[in-house]
Amino acid sequence: MGQRSAKRREYIEYIAEHRRNILRAWAEMQQKCGSEPFVYDDWKFSHLDQWVREHDLSKYSPEEFKPYRRWFYPTKREARKKAKYASAFEKAWKHHYENNPHHWEYWDGKQAGHDYDPFFQWLCYVEMVLDWTAMSYKFGGTALEYYEGHKDEIKIAPDYTEFVERLLRQMASEQNNPALPG
Ligand SMILES: [Zn+2]
Repeated sequence: MGQRSAKRREYIEYIAEHRRNILRAWAEMQQKCGSEPFVYDDWKFSHLDQWVREHDLSKYSPEEFKPYRRWFYPTKREARKKAKYASAFEKAWKHHYENNPHHWEYWDGKQAGHDYDPFFQWLCYVEMVLDWTAMSYKFGGTALEYYEGHKDEIKIAPDYTEFVERLLRQMASEQNNPALPG
């Protein structure tokens, strides 16, 4: 197997692992956030449940796959000229967050209650917390710690900040929701 296809496989496995971790985070959230409507309300739950299953699928698109792969899983040759691939990666990342509203960057600068449905935005922030939780399984710490450490850059719409922080705290606690078994 050539080096490039080996790197390609590694990156595919990385995406697959992240998507498995999203499912795990979602299961953990259902345990810890049982009093939140997106857990107990069937209609809201089913929206999020569907999104979770489709999480990050755009990473396999031609716009994202190759630039991401070259950036994070470069061959030796590609690693030597990393700077050359920076702008392609930037463009791919922009494509990713513009097509994936679970990134706060998607919402940055959008007008509340005008450009979109508030229910949609609210649920997207839940998926963002799942994303950070899944990342914490892989890279350590907690989603709350990640948020605290990047507070200066992260811009969450003011109406949702308190909600996001509450979710992060609930996810960071060892305690399962007492209303749920186990
Ligand atoms: Zn994403």
